[in-house]
Amino acid sequence: MKLIFEKSVPGRHSSILPACDVPEVDLGVKREEPLNLPELCENDVSRHYTQLCQRVHGVNCGFYPLGSCTMKYNPRIDEEMAALPGFTNVHPLAPKASVKGSEAVLELAAKYLCEIAGMDGMTFQPAAGAHGEFTGVLLIKQYHDARGDKARTKIIVPDSAHGTNPATAAMCGYDVVNVASAPNGCVDLEALKAVLGPDTAGLMLTNPNTVGIFDENILEITRLVHEAGGLCYYDGANLNAVMGHVRPGDMGFDCIHMNLHKTFATPHGGGGPGAGAVGCKEFLKGFLPKSVLMEGEGSIQVRGFAGNFLVVVRALTYLMTLGKEGIPEASTNAVLNANYLMQKIKGTFTPAFDRVCMHEFVLDLSEFKKETGVSALDVAKSLIDHGMHPPTMYFPLIVHEALMLEPTETESKETLDEAAEIFRALYAQAYSDPDYMHAAPHHAQIGRPDEVKAARNPIVRWTEA
Ligand SMILES: *Cc1c(COP(=O)(O)O)cnc(C)c1O
Repeated sequence: MKLIFEKSVPGRHSSILPACDVPEVDLGVKREEPLNLPELCENDVSRHYTQLCQRVHGVNCGFYPLGSCTMKYNPRIDEEMAALPGFTNVHPLAPKASVKGSEAVLELAAKYLCEIAGMDGMTFQPAAGAHGEFTGVLLIKQYHDARGDKARTKIIVPDSAHGTNPATAAMCGYDVVNVASAPNGCVDLEALKAVLGPDTAGLMLTNPNTVGIFDENILEITRLVHEAGGLCYYDGANLNAVMGHVRPGDMGFDCIHMNLHKTFATPHGGGGPGAGAVGCKEFLKGFLPKSVLMEGEGSIQVRGFAGNFLVVVRALTYLMTLGKEGIPEASTNAVLNANYLMQKIKGTFTPAFDRVCMHEFVLDLSEFKKETGVSALDVAKSLIDHGMHPPTMYFPLIVHEALMLEPTETESKETLDEAAEIFRALYAQAYSDPDYMHAAPHHAQIGRPDEVKAARNPIVRWTEA
């Protein structure tokens, strides 16, 4: 398929503007060379983008069980609300008195999300989950600094944490202390006790963790960290598993981020705008970033204004549409769907942890690969030929040949049954025709790109030949 620049024909355009009927004014600032924009008629533009969108797999095309990403179907009403001109046309520097509606959206969304998380204050500035973690750990840092406690230089991160957790702690200037998981997939309490001390600034816990397990010792974990003088950070990116049932604040956590672009209705996957809403307990509220519409008092600012505001509009619409009954129902169904699919697949592929999971589960294909030579990557690529988006691969790192599936609550029983059948068929095919799977996908636009080159040497910008 050609790039839009390659389709450009000089002089071709779609005139929609009337001729200028006021005197032209020279502003005194002008490009030395005209901007090189593609020239096409409306028809060409429309076809170009339609063809592009037909080449990608989205939640609107089919099943998308990409673990840890919560690729659920986002109701259209959330988009409609975020597209209201009163929200899209508001200027970030508009006088406060003129944007009372936007202010009310932020306040109400913060109120509901604080209620769900068990927190007292919130900022919407962070643009993503990792950015939210960064903000949250800076709250912890400011807290210790304000008390003159300079000895706390370490953040504890269990090995089942999301990869962004240790990266965040390091970005904030902390030494990262890794704690191993026990064989049941939960934090090893003895290993935790061994690393706690007067140098502990805090602990970052991903819960449910990256193997889809709710840590059964969570109250003991937060108690131990507090006893040592540290604070507890909850990675709530995957709140889809617990919202409406348990509150991180009640489990002893002091701050949290929630990915509004996973759990709360903003579509994601192409790196579009997100929001890592950060909630905290009363005693940390004073450290929250300042913004025009939300009254933080802290000295940090992690993004301009109130963050990605329209993402918050979608989240509020989602919360208000589901209501107090619908929110726990959504997480109940997310957990039910994951367990259902795990049980249906279990006769063939092996779960890494054979126990009740939360919103996602991990398959361990290491034995299967030894027997058939077919890798997790081969299975993932083969799924594409069946119209399904591959699960997350080779993550978490503590499971070898991992495939991590998160079906989400928005999939029907029929979709899950069909997915289980596809897995069964591929399992059988691995024994009968492994070579076919090594070469998959056979029916996709792109087969197997050089992923290392794509990651190390990405060409993301068109340059004129
Ligand atoms: C997705 C995710 C993150 C990171 O969120 P981004 O918005 O991608 O930065 C952090 N923690 C967990 C558990 C996640 O699933």
